Amino acid sequence: MDKFVTSQNSVTAYGNIPQQEINNQLATSIFDNLPVAVYTCDHLGYIKSYNKAATKLWGREPAIGTDLWCGSWKIFQPNGEPLPLDLCPMARTLKEKRSIEGEEILVQRPDGTKRNVVPYPVPVFDSSGALTGAINTLIDVTEQREDDEQQSMLAAIIESSDDAIIGKTLDGIITSWNNAAENMFGYTKNEALGKHISLIIPLERLDEESIIINKIRNNEKVDHFETVRLSKTGEELFISLTISPIKGYNGRVVGASKIARNISTQKLAEKALQHYTENLEALYSIGKLISEDLDIRRILQKVTDETTKLTGAEFGAFFYNTIDNKGESYTLYTLSGAPREAFEKFGMPRNTEVFNATFSGEGVFRADDITKDPRYGKNAPHRGMPEGHLPVVSYLAVPVVSKSGIVIGGLFFGHPKAGVFKKEHETIVVSIASQAAVALDNAKLYEEIKMLNARKDEFIGIASHELKTPLTSINGYLQILERNLSNDMNIGFVKKTKAQLNKLMVLVSDLLDVSKIQAGKLELTMETFDLNSLLTETIEIMQPLSTSHLLTFYNGFEETLVLADRRRIEQVIINLITNAIKYSPKSDKVNIEVNKSGKYATVTIKDYGIGISNDQQEHIFTRFFRADGLASHMSGLGLGLYISKEIIDRHKGNIKVKSEIGSGSEFYFSIPLNDK
Ligand code: ADP
Repeated sequence: MDKFVTSQNSVTAYGNIPQQEINNQLATSIFDNLPVAVYTCDHLGYIKSYNKAATKLWGREPAIGTDLWCGSWKIFQPNGEPLPLDLCPMARTLKEKRSIEGEEILVQRPDGTKRNVVPYPVPVFDSSGALTGAINTLIDVTEQREDDEQQSMLAAIIESSDDAIIGKTLDGIITSWNNAAENMFGYTKNEALGKHISLIIPLERLDEESIIINKIRNNEKVDHFETVRLSKTGEELFISLTISPIKGYNGRVVGASKIARNISTQKLAEKALQHYTENLEALYSIGKLISEDLDIRRILQKVTDETTKLTGAEFGAFFYNTIDNKGESYTLYTLSGAPREAFEKFGMPRNTEVFNATFSGEGVFRADDITKDPRYGKNAPHRGMPEGHLPVVSYLAVPVVSKSGIVIGGLFFGHPKAGVFKKEHETIVVSIASQAAVALDNAKLYEEIKMLNARKDEFIGIASHELKTPLTSINGYLQILERNLSNDMNIGFVKKTKAQLNKLMVLVSDLLDVSKIQAGKLELTMETFDLNSLLTETIEIMQPLSTSHLLTFYNGFEETLVLADRRRIEQVIINLITNAIKYSPKSDKVNIEVNKSGKYATVTIKDYGIGISNDQQEHIFTRFFRADGLASHMSGLGLGLYISKEIIDRHKGNIKVKSEIGSGSEFYFSIPLNDK
């Protein structure tokens, strides 16, 4: 078959060229330039003609009249197995004298490249019905197959993804729903496809959808948007969403793809961590609060308040493990979350099986619903909660046990709903309770020490008072004796006895002063007097008593009027001068000076003795403190400076020391001038 017959033979407008000729030329041109590959074979299968598209497809020119059935270099079945040439569709069409449709083959070109081709061989018969050949159209479907492959790869990726991938239209209608979406949200493809996306959006978050869709319409992507969605069972899922616009062939946004990652576990872990941190912080701050406090009521109130908050209880209370005089109820001490009357009216925890469990040391008692506990409701008259009592369903009771193992009391929590208190609440209350027990032990110890101390001060007060009376009498008798004695030696003995007695009287009155200070009973009798005169007089009295030291008074002022207790200030001066002499055994002088500065008069007593080390200086004004080293070999109770400081403080003054070991000390005190 050389040429195609296209219409009947007739004369045309092109002059004398016969129509047949024109038709043939036209057909040949169409045949040659067709965009699809077409070729023909004679009835024996030899290729008779082919067009340009066929040459391009085969990548070669077949030999007319020699090449059989197909112009391809090599042909294969779609699965890649070689296809014998005589079994190719064209060969079969000629053999079977019938058209073959859509049986895909693989054509390999001489350069090795392969094309997917669907041949459409059609047999051609002459007017007598005899087979004259066949015409074959080859459709190159390579691109289509590649697209299909990519599509199915994409589909496989989508289906195997752990993230839910959902397609939807701009109206929110679900158009695709992968396996992960099924697993995550619990709806099958059938259930989800065609439904509105609000299927998985919680009511209160519906607004999110319109915001997202607006962004998508504007061709914007929504990245890692963390939100909550609902599963089919109503479970809230924390998810991270990435939503991208889907564009149609013309570039217009036609829908959205939504990738949802379930971050519930991560969120739960975050929440748990946060919770844990909060609990730790709470534990730390309660621990700190209660360890810094020594007041039992304050400690227990803090513990009750904080544990009530931490457990989410409606109310919490601490009860002491002491039974009232009727032997019925435990003693309510602190309460949180409910008014005290709410308890008092309806009775404290009674000595029932439920409460006894805590107080008798059975340990923690936690119930999701206390009313269902076998120990509940056993006791008359209420048989459970008395009418009008704060309703308690969830119940938690933690004993507070002292180091010695005694149950001091218990922390009790209640809530009207069931199942409120969990293991973690129990754990945290137990650890706070043990801290509280230590704090309570300490506070109790502190109370005891305070009490003992008060008793000791009381004793010192009484003892020194009792001692002072006989000492005063002895002093009186000694004076009478001294006057009536004529023997010098005996007079000498009496003098020595008086000197020792004097020391004793100073010690006793120091002790008495301490107890007065402790009891807040050191009274001052204020008067205006001249400090210069007081110093002069005191030095005059003291100088004869010291044979070793020269007391020098540097007095730059005529008078220094102060408003103070003269006797007490004298006591301070005597004490400081006595110390200056006592603690400078190798020196022979003590310098005393008075100065005025602003509204204060300052008295300085300077010695050249053993001195005081820096670290001891800060302690010498405390009760019973005596410095180490040389000073410890000298007699004293460590009370003089303590009393002096108390006296000066009470005058709103100041007493300080400057000292260096081996060089001496300078004590100075300031008291307000009488500014009238
Ligand atoms: P006491 O002299 O009875 O021990 P004080 O309260 O008067 O008690 O003094 C407390 C301590 O301060 C003394 O034990 C001594 O160590 C130290 N001290 C006081 N005055 C001086 C001083 N002038 N020089 C050196 N040390 C002193």
